[in-house]
Amino acid sequence: MGQGRRKLVAGNWKMNGLHAEGLALARDLAHRAVAARRPAGEPISCDLLVCPPATLFFSLAEALTGSGIFLGGQDCHQDRAGPHTGDLSAEMLKDAGCSHVIIGHSERRSEHGESNEIVRAKAAAARRAGLVAILCVGESEAERVSGQALSVVAHQLAGSIPDGMAAASLVIAYEPVWAIGTGRTPTVADVAEMHAHIRQRLGGALAEAGDVRVLYGGSVKPTNAAELLAVANVDGALVGGASLVAADFWAIARSCG
Ligand code: PEP
Repeated sequence: MGQGRRKLVAGNWKMNGLHAEGLALARDLAHRAVAARRPAGEPISCDLLVCPPATLFFSLAEALTGSGIFLGGQDCHQDRAGPHTGDLSAEMLKDAGCSHVIIGHSERRSEHGESNEIVRAKAAAARRAGLVAILCVGESEAERVSGQALSVVAHQLAGSIPDGMAAASLVIAYEPVWAIGTGRTPTVADVAEMHAHIRQRLGGALAEAGDVRVLYGGSVKPTNAAELLAVANVDGALVGGASLVAADFWAIARSCG
């Protein structure tokens, strides 16, 4: 597929959304997606994914039926089942209607001490369950300032992609930690440099690496989405805050061109 990669716009709702509001948001998006596909509608040119809190999986799986919008989890445990209080397995996510799961988000790495090794085990669990793993990488501000951004991300990729991972089971999300939820974004040149670097590293790590989508994440908004999504090797966006407002998420999706 290579350069023919269809963009993916994914919403990470994080720990937001009680049942009624989450359902309303999903229904709003589903309605827009269905209307866009009607003969008089304006089709969008990207895939859409929402990753709500796990409490909403079953209701949203139903609400999104027929919309073409994918459902994903925000994390999974690496084991299939067992004594892991509070955790969910990749198989449980699949069973609840998910097709994707975010792995190694910086908030998991920092708040839950997730190492590259754990992230790799979780990515393997996602593959085992038939889910697409959206594997997050990204440097801290100190690492960016000290010129280590490229090497940090290379190290994260090398440490967290399981051996033999198929391109179809993997999406990479480049999310500079300092850009998440801050309203700040890297320059277009820095995004282009990092995405080219990631694509080159993927080439050395797995077969058919040209098929892996590499998303940008970190303060993507309707106002900056078109510019970021137009950067070479940016195959979509992982969106946090702006994914909680249907009109904003939709505007970002529209920015895919
Ligand atoms: C995220 O946490 O994945 C994210 C990109 O958040 P935000 O868009 O709010 O910066």
